[in-house]
Amino acid sequence: DTPVLELRGVSKVYSVKQGLMGARKPLRAVNDVNLTLGRSEVLGLVGESGCGKSTLAKILLGLEAPTSGEVLVDGEAIGSHDRLKLARRIQPIFQDPYSSLNPRKSIAEIISLPLRVHGIGDHASQTKAVREILDVVGLPARVMNTYPSQMSGGQRQRVAIARALIMKPEIVICDEPTSALDVSVQSQILNLLGELRREFGLTYLFISHNLAVVEHLATRVAVMYLGRIVEEAETGALFDASRHPYSRALLDSVLTPEPGLGVPDTHLGAAYPNPINPPPGCAFHPRCASATAFCAARAPRPVASGDGLVECHLYDPETEMFQR
Ligand code: SF4
Ligand code: MG
Repeated sequence: DTPVLELRGVSKVYSVKQGLMGARKPLRAVNDVNLTLGRSEVLGLVGESGCGKSTLAKILLGLEAPTSGEVLVDGEAIGSHDRLKLARRIQPIFQDPYSSLNPRKSIAEIISLPLRVHGIGDHASQTKAVREILDVVGLPARVMNTYPSQMSGGQRQRVAIARALIMKPEIVICDEPTSALDVSVQSQILNLLGELRREFGLTYLFISHNLAVVEHLATRVAVMYLGRIVEEAETGALFDASRHPYSRALLDSVLTPEPGLGVPDTHLGAAYPNPINPPPGCAFHPRCASATAFCAARAPRPVASGDGLVECHLYDPETEMFQR
């Protein structure tokens, strides 16, 4: 089966200035990422803020061009010039429905915008499509003539989902879709996303800093650190026995509830490094409880593990065990 979405060696390097008079330095936001998504799969992409997951989302949405590497949709390489084509197949749902919905437009105008941009149908058929998609996301037709400010956060996120789905995409990039919502509303939106996936055979890339949110929906999880995927595994396998010290630290922070704090640093020895000056060797070594002198000198390479991968010197693919 051809994967519906594939990233091959995708990197994004920005050139950033350090200080006022500073020289430009490369910032490797995404560093040689390989990912594959099968149809109807949900790949959870997890990492702390600044790890490159939103940059990856922008590349997939055609909002940023990769510095190197390829994005393939249904086995076909997609260039950044194919943005319109891409938008028909890949649609986003962003974190903050407050800022991603135009406050001066009615809900009907907001949801039908992608159809109008792409010249799909006439006014009557667009209105009909809005009515239908509102029903799909669990909103009454009467909200069509209301404005975002008249809605709750959860309703607004349903509008954002409707706007994404009206294009009948194959792939939906969900970038922290529930992070701005109250906890009680979060699970409603997660359930809705799960139902929509089953109903329409959608494929999701589900980005979150919160492993607990990802566990709910994802079939597989990729853990990202400083632009690299350091572990990829089936969701159950990752939660039962993660094989990378960073994944374990993230899991520990999930298992220790600290509401509102996201991923606390307390389980990790040091703060998240500055991506302009990444640590040598294994980039995780300053925070890794298992680090050795070798880790600081030499970067580990990804090792296949089941149908995932682990990037750590202490992972032994023979025994599929982490060697302490
Ligand atoms: Fe930790 Fe070393 Fe593995 Fe990096 S390679 S995660 S520093 S044990
Ligand atoms: Mg982000």
